[in-house]
Amino acid sequence: MSKYIFVTGGVVSSLGKGIISASIGKLLQKRGYKITIQKFDPYINIDPGTLNPYEHGECYVTADGMETDLDLGHYERFTGIQTTRHNSQTTGRIYQAVIDKERRGDYLGHTIQVVPHITDEIKRRIQQLANPSVDDKMGMGESYDFIITEIGGTIGDMESAPFLEAIRQLKWQLGKDAVCVHLTYVPYLKAACELKTKPTQHSVKELQSAGIQPDILVLRTEKHLDDHLRAKVAGFCNVDLECIIQSEDLPSIYEVPVNMQKQGLDAVILRKMGIPVGETPDLGEWNHFLELRRNAKDVVRIGLVGKYDLQDAYKSIMESLSHAATYHHRKVSISFIPSEHLDKDMLEAQDGLVVCPGFGQRGTEGKILAAQYAREHDLPCLGICLGMQMMVIEFARNVLGWKEAKSREFANEGETEDGVPFVIDLMEEQKCVSQMGGTMRLGAYDCQLADGSHAAAIYGKRLISERHRHRYEFNNAFLGAFEARGLVCSGRNPDAQLVEIVEMKGHRWYIGTQFHPEYQSTVLHPHPLFMDFIKTAIGK
Ligand code: GLN
Repeated sequence: MSKYIFVTGGVVSSLGKGIISASIGKLLQKRGYKITIQKFDPYINIDPGTLNPYEHGECYVTADGMETDLDLGHYERFTGIQTTRHNSQTTGRIYQAVIDKERRGDYLGHTIQVVPHITDEIKRRIQQLANPSVDDKMGMGESYDFIITEIGGTIGDMESAPFLEAIRQLKWQLGKDAVCVHLTYVPYLKAACELKTKPTQHSVKELQSAGIQPDILVLRTEKHLDDHLRAKVAGFCNVDLECIIQSEDLPSIYEVPVNMQKQGLDAVILRKMGIPVGETPDLGEWNHFLELRRNAKDVVRIGLVGKYDLQDAYKSIMESLSHAATYHHRKVSISFIPSEHLDKDMLEAQDGLVVCPGFGQRGTEGKILAAQYAREHDLPCLGICLGMQMMVIEFARNVLGWKEAKSREFANEGETEDGVPFVIDLMEEQKCVSQMGGTMRLGAYDCQLADGSHAAAIYGKRLISERHRHRYEFNNAFLGAFEARGLVCSGRNPDAQLVEIVEMKGHRWYIGTQFHPEYQSTVLHPHPLFMDFIKTAIGK
């Protein structure tokens, strides 16, 4: 039977509940358990796919094509598990399911209420991960020893209330088989030279007033917490001293599992559940990765050309670059290069460029200039999704001489292919799409690599599978003209013949992918494209 670990957060947001959840998953895996991690986001959007990155950071895409919160990226990068649409839930999805049932008449005339109908639906979605009979295309045929459920937002938010009620009920029902790990913040007041536990006490009280007694507290802090302070929190919050764990700021998120293991977070979880703890496992390859990171002195400089000047918008790309650099004994120094006001001097200072994904026209001319600079200066360049599309437009305009070339995404009213070469066009299957949410080409698709291509050499195989999130595609009508001048298609979808990879002949490293390789790079399995890109950038 599966056991449940609920991860909640208090005091402030952005404490890193996702990293703690992923670390718990990692440590339990190391003890031989099968785990999965799920996130509930309390917002009303059905999924974050329609959300502006300024509001929500990156949208992570699962193999089965769900647009999800970026924490799912951490879960996959830390643990190597493959998440699915069942691992990402929102208030919107839950209400939608309940309302659909009501319209079908499933509730047989009852009044539909937050309790029990919404809370039951939440409980069902937590527990469905434990049900191996759920018929789903991917991943759900297996049962898990532990289901870790992270509740987004902060205790006390109005939106979180139904989730807390569902957890309260489940904890009551499951007894020892469920624990609650509550993450809070212990601020340091400089003026008073003191660490303050009051916000933690209040946050635990708030949780208790919802009927939930946390079993374990993880205290986020910028300074070390001594035993006296931990004992004080334990006393105020009805939590055993050994269950007061501190999570100090560390140089890298990947150090967190090690720090949690040192303090026995996984051991106390098992003890609370009445499971024999056994020996502390060696983190092995994970430690090797950390060792490489700590020893890396030299730097590889990568420019990210994009329009969102916030670090969360390109999370998976940044982590993928960092994984690859680590295995090449380097630190990666990532410079954000705003594509709206492209600064050529910044391009010059880089060892390699990533032209980032995106939507809408803003900043695309800068991406085109960056692609041109990389092409003309033999600078290693990886274009991802919109980035790849901009590589194609750049080539059309400046090599093929089609000055008007553009993507259909940026077509003006009344503009047709008679006047404009739409080298990037709307995919056939997208032409009748009217709804925005969840309707793109999403999730994993096969890609056949061309014999003798750079891409095939990098992957070391011919058939790959990568995740997608787009509506537009390379226009195959123009492929001959591109290939004749050296920008060739080196990866294709075997069913639909869509161009998935373009690469430049004779260039040191110039590859554009319609898919997003960054969704598949993990700590222990860095992605081959990022590995080879970084290696070449270092060589330069
Ligand atoms: N806007 C482009 C499309 O929809 C690219 C999307 C992306 O970069 N993820 O095709």
